[in-house]
Amino acid sequence: MTRLFTRFLCGLIATWLWPGTALSQPPGASTERMRWYKGNTHTHTLNSDGDSTPDEVVRWYREHGYRFVVLTDHNFLTPVDGLNALYRADEQFVVIKGEEVTERFDNKSLHINGLDVSQLVPPQGGTSVVDVLQRNVDAIRRAKGIPHINHPNFGWSITQDELRQVRSNRLFEVYNGHPTVNNLGGGGTPGLEDVWDGILSAGVLLYGIAVDDAHMFKQPGNPDVPGPGRGWVVVRAPRLETRALLESLERGDFYASTGVELTELDVSAERMRIVVRPAASSRYRVQFIGKGGKVLHESLEATATYTFTGAEGYVRARVIESNGRMAWVQPVMLSPRPVRRELSLSLIGIAAIGGLVQWRRRAGRRSRT
Ligand SMILES: [Zn+2]
Ligand SMILES: [Zn+2]
Repeated sequence: MTRLFTRFLCGLIATWLWPGTALSQPPGASTERMRWYKGNTHTHTLNSDGDSTPDEVVRWYREHGYRFVVLTDHNFLTPVDGLNALYRADEQFVVIKGEEVTERFDNKSLHINGLDVSQLVPPQGGTSVVDVLQRNVDAIRRAKGIPHINHPNFGWSITQDELRQVRSNRLFEVYNGHPTVNNLGGGGTPGLEDVWDGILSAGVLLYGIAVDDAHMFKQPGNPDVPGPGRGWVVVRAPRLETRALLESLERGDFYASTGVELTELDVSAERMRIVVRPAASSRYRVQFIGKGGKVLHESLEATATYTFTGAEGYVRARVIESNGRMAWVQPVMLSPRPVRRELSLSLIGIAAIGGLVQWRRRAGRRSRT
């Protein structure tokens, strides 16, 4: 009887310490049939500092297997209706309007993309880096656009602490294909994956996108100019339509890539499962990462599964290909289920009182003999 009781008590304590997991958001909220669409959310044309016309830029993406592209000239909203009349086709391709709201504060370059804004958003100014970012994010939201914060390490402009403080923003560029944006950090300034882990560890949910930031389409193969085809997102959406794509992006239902393709990405309340489409001579490492940037598990196979314990804080994944190509799977925040915790605590209380009564009875019996 005493052994049974001890086992019961241990079980309750275990439930209290490891109370199971709860996802902060459903990864695939829709029950509609979902498809994957590859796209780039950051590119320039002759309407700002690009070297090609909007027509040439859109044609490049159309002819290279992309399903959508967002034209994001500096402080200029390039019209896309005419381009869609030429290049849009159901379930094949769509052009999305956008703008790179381009600001400076002191010597810092602060660039925020507004995807599908309803009108031009002029730079809003502000009194600090965070204030400038926040005012522009808010202005993009007011214009019904989806904001993303660009290349934080360009000009060493946005610190982890500043990026963490911005509200109403879900997306930032963990990879930007421009050759001078310092994605990997250096000289004591952290790289953008470390920045991301720091922000996630503080409990702020941010999704990492990869983009081209392409300016130069006329020098193919030159790594020293910002050319196309370097970073993209693959979005899971019910259909190829602007708002459906952007909603999936803001829900984290996508992965970012510089050349790794996934054939399966399954995130449930219990686990994250990833299947890589292997290139002929490549090898892969799949790393699952939690609080503090800790690698929780590494798989050396193209198929990898990680089962959540609930104690990770968050879990995201990165796929490293043997030639340096990458994919980033979006984080899910994990938290203990509070109801179960309260229930466990009350059960522990009841069990402790029961144990005390039993002990008193036994002590009473012993004193009588
Ligand atoms: Zn920029
Ligand atoms: Zn740009």
